[in-house]
Amino acid sequence: MSTTSSRRRFLSTALRTGLVVGAGSAVLAACSEATPASTPVGAGSPVAPANSVPAGSIPPSADPVLTGEQALARLVAGNARFVADRDERLDEGVARRVAVSKGQHPFATVLGCVDSRVPIELVFDQGLGDLVVVRSAGEALDHSVVGSLEFGVAELHTPLLVVLGHQRCGALDATIKAIDAHQRTSEAGQIDYLVETLTPAVRQVAGKPGDRLTNAIHANVDLVLAELRKSPVIAPLEKSGKVKLVGAYYELDTGQVVLT
Ligand SMILES: [Zn+2]
Repeated sequence: MSTTSSRRRFLSTALRTGLVVGAGSAVLAACSEATPASTPVGAGSPVAPANSVPAGSIPPSADPVLTGEQALARLVAGNARFVADRDERLDEGVARRVAVSKGQHPFATVLGCVDSRVPIELVFDQGLGDLVVVRSAGEALDHSVVGSLEFGVAELHTPLLVVLGHQRCGALDATIKAIDAHQRTSEAGQIDYLVETLTPAVRQVAGKPGDRLTNAIHANVDLVLAELRKSPVIAPLEKSGKVKLVGAYYELDTGQVVLT
């Protein structure tokens, strides 16, 4: 058994049993998959079309059998509520907190930017236990980000993985400026790591018509998806139909998430 696979098996076992794995001050909190018997489960429940779905009409996300398409429809419906300023936030109260305290069945894993204007749960009008959210500037990938996304789809079994770029992303804008100036963004720290990571997206759209930043943001989502499809954990899940991978773009001006 390889070191990697034994480590992963250990992690998987620890997560199933609720064991907390500590390493110095960093603690990987246990995330038991067990669902209390009292938790409502709406197996195979239909998902109504966007613009017409109050959150309360959909069973809590304890539903373990959503397909990727159903999960995506739930996100789309939640974003429609957000855009229309009809957020329901029914999954944020005490009852929900108690319901998910002993177990979780999130229905989507989402990678988004750290931008303060793009809080993932809010723009999709979702609550406690609904989403596995990973955020990094410009959705930049590193080992921790990829590992966290793998954790979402492989250990928490979300049937959907979304990479969400957004309008006027400052991380990609900074990358463009650094490339044009032929200089680093800082002498110390890790911001240049982000710039280096995002540089391929900017290079890819050089000379293309349209807004350069917007083009780079879209190219970045595509590159991130392509990179995630190289993951030995994510790739087979997508191939077998257990996980749906989707790119998306959040418009700051409208609040709307557009699938790409
Ligand atoms: Zn951003």
